[in-house]
Amino acid sequence: MIGRGPDNGKATHMLIAGNWKMNGQSAALAEIEALVGAFKSRPPAVDVLVCPPATLISRAVAKVDGAFAVGGQDCHPKVSGAFTGDISAEMLRDAGASWVIVGHSERRQYHAEADALVGSKAQAAWRAGLGAVICIGETEAERAAGREEEVVDRQLAASVPDGATAANTTVAYEPVWAIGTGRTPTRDEIARIHVHLRGALTKRFGVAGRGILILYGGSVNPGNAKEILATPEVGGALVGGASLKAADFLAIIEAAPA
Ligand code: PEP
Repeated sequence: MIGRGPDNGKATHMLIAGNWKMNGQSAALAEIEALVGAFKSRPPAVDVLVCPPATLISRAVAKVDGAFAVGGQDCHPKVSGAFTGDISAEMLRDAGASWVIVGHSERRQYHAEADALVGSKAQAAWRAGLGAVICIGETEAERAAGREEEVVDRQLAASVPDGATAANTTVAYEPVWAIGTGRTPTRDEIARIHVHLRGALTKRFGVAGRGILILYGGSVNPGNAKEILATPEVGGALVGGASLKAADFLAIIEAAPA
């Protein structure tokens, strides 16, 4: 398994992951080069993952040369077949990816992906030797109705397959209403959900559940990263917009507690 567990030897066991979404053509590889250059003079204290569009994965991997991980943004549950436009986890692995995001709210919303499908995508990731970043999070209406814990419990139960470990899985808690909006929950609200998720993971997976990182995602930026990353049970961040520019992404990486 390609993923990285708590025994990665780094002082801080955290993951800062960038999700470029449907952004970036060849010119955007300059941002990857900038990250590689910065890490040469100052290696990151945390694990770093960048998930560019699939069209850039192999070229990003060549530029990164092992300095950090490169991942996909989605995968199909099957290895191959008549699924026009889809990409299998094996194809991502073949392109040099080591992780794949599954169940992002934009996939759930615009492609009607349900929990069971997300779970089968996570299993596909493992089958291919990739780690899975499994996204969960409530909508604004669900939060207004006070249902956020019930929603993430359901998503966690059905989207995270049996067999999840710290090495093959990272959970990303991303309240849908915070993604790309500039709005974030308070530190206490993030802590409440993350502590709740830790309890659910530990209850279900025992010792393995204690080590699975829980990332926070939703409008993380250089200004709020320090506080968010110092929140109890926050094991890193899944960053959208602020991962597109190396300078912003580096500032978030630097904000992780040493
Ligand atoms: C995301 O795409 O997972 C995300 C958290 O986006 P943003 O940081 O732009 O809110």
